[in-house]
Amino acid sequence: LLVLEAGATGFSKGKPLKKIGMKAQDTCELFFDNVRVPKANLLGEEGSGFKALMQELAWERLMLAITAIAGAETALQHTIEYTKSREVFGQPVAAYQNTRFKLAEMRGELAIGRVFVDRCIDLVLSGELGIEDAAAAKFWCTELQGRVVDQCLQFFGGNGYMLEYPIARAYIDCRAQRIYGGTNEMMRELIARTL
Ligand SMILES: Cc1cc2nc3c(=O)[nH]c(=O)nc-3n(C[C@H](O)[C@H](O)[C@H](O)COP(=O)(O)OP(=O)(O)OC[C@H]3O[C@@H](n4cnc5c(N)ncnc54)[C@H](O)[C@@H]3O)c2cc1C
Repeated sequence: LLVLEAGATGFSKGKPLKKIGMKAQDTCELFFDNVRVPKANLLGEEGSGFKALMQELAWERLMLAITAIAGAETALQHTIEYTKSREVFGQPVAAYQNTRFKLAEMRGELAIGRVFVDRCIDLVLSGELGIEDAAAAKFWCTELQGRVVDQCLQFFGGNGYMLEYPIARAYIDCRAQRIYGGTNEMMRELIARTL
């Protein structure tokens, strides 16, 4: 692992990529062209960089699962408040049985997801979080987040499609969760290899 100073000869950053969401993140490509790095910039032992990065992957994936559960819980809270205040055909959207059952279902699924994520946090703290559990947390929680945020947006009706409502931004932003940090297909592949 090498520490590279911004501005080093041969190192350049592309323009921020035009993403559909996560606009606050200046995601760019990084280019390395015959860059020379002083020996003093070596982090850890020479040749151990890949291993060092691999060691952090389980924690990185768990962080995505944590943000998935937290993000979905926030979306659900916004939706509960909105459906209680928005009246359609003489009663709040939250009073319809379809709404009540779907809100209840999301509340239940999020509680179940949170328990697994909390268990994985315990495993991280004791240094025992394995590849399989981290991968399972990543794919399951980010897919739950996708389902929950999509359903929540539906309860906002047309307003849910408008960027002035946080639920619209949550919908666009959370799409990347199933792609980065290793795609959810790769998470399944990693688990399958251990079976
Ligand atoms: C918003 C955002 C931020 C990002 N930030 C970073 C960052 O900070 N650092 C960084 O390094 N990267 C970053 N990435 C890149 C991200 O990690 C990759 O896009 C991701 O790992 C998928 O790789 P890929 O795009 O090359 O897709 P590909 O590997 O081309 O995959 C295409 C499709 O094929 C499927 N696939 C591939 N291999 C298999 C297989 N063996 N079995 C079954 N299906 C397979 C994939 O699941 C996917 O559906 C970011 C991406 C996004 C969208």
